Parts: sequence; structure tokens; C-alpha cells
Amino acid sequence: MTETIFSKIIRKEIPADIVYEDDLVLAFRDVNPQAPVHILIIPKRPIVSIAEVTPADTELLGYLLLTVARVAAQEGLEEGYRIVINTGKDGGQTVFHLHLHLLGQRMMTWPPG
Ligand code: 5GP
Repeated sequence: MTETIFSKIIRKEIPADIVYEDDLVLAFRDVNPQAPVHILIIPKRPIVSIAEVTPADTELLGYLLLTVARVAAQEGLEEGYRIVINTGKDGGQTVFHLHLHLLGQRMMTWPPG
């Protein structure tokens, strides 16, 4: 896949406010937050989007969700939060490196825009 800005964040070539990191995943604050807490959780391995995953990614996808829960607890989001995975053009995806948005500390509305 073509490199994105997130590859540079993973390699620490550009700064980001990192809140969690291990060998598999990275979590950092969104530069343009849509809620008081807005964190992106990404795999270090470049995957374009949910539309591109294969059965080989099953464990990693589960681990991404576990990481969301870990970071949400770390951020004190006891009242709840929203997880968003924009996928493809119509899904509103702008950065083509899979990422989960963790949004919290405000009341979410439904349906989303
Ligand atoms: P998407 O629209 O693809 O679902 O979400 C991409 C997100 O990445 C957006 O919320 C945008 O604000 C965030 N973003 C884009 N470039 C950067 C960056 O350089 N640093 C950080 N921290 N977030 C970014």
C-alpha cells in the first residue's frame, strides 16, 4: 500500500501525542479532535482499511478492539464511548491506513452524519 502520514507517526518521523504503544499497535490523539477524547488506534502493520483485511488479520483485529478498551479505561471513559471505523470514500475515510477512532467524554448522537 502507499505510505500514509500514519507510517511517519509510527516511525516517529513526525510528532504525535501517543497514549499507548506496543509491538503491534499505536494509539495517539487525533490532531483535529471531534470530542474531548479523540484517539486513533492503528496497527503498526500497514493495512489499508477494513475492506482489505484477510483471515490472517483476525487476531490483530481483535487486539485492536482490546486496545480500544484498554485506552478507554486509561482515559477514564466509564460512562461510555464510541468506536468508529470509517471505510473507503463513502465511509468518510481520508487516511488509508486502518484506524479505529475512540471518541468520548461527550454525549454521542445517532444517526451519525
Ligand atoms: P478518517 O477520516 O480517515 O477516518 O480519519 C483520519 C483522522 O486522522 C482524522 O480524524 C484526522 O484528524 C486524523 N489525522 C490526519 N492527519 C493526522 C496527523 O498528522 N496527526 C494526527 N494525530 N491525526 C491526524
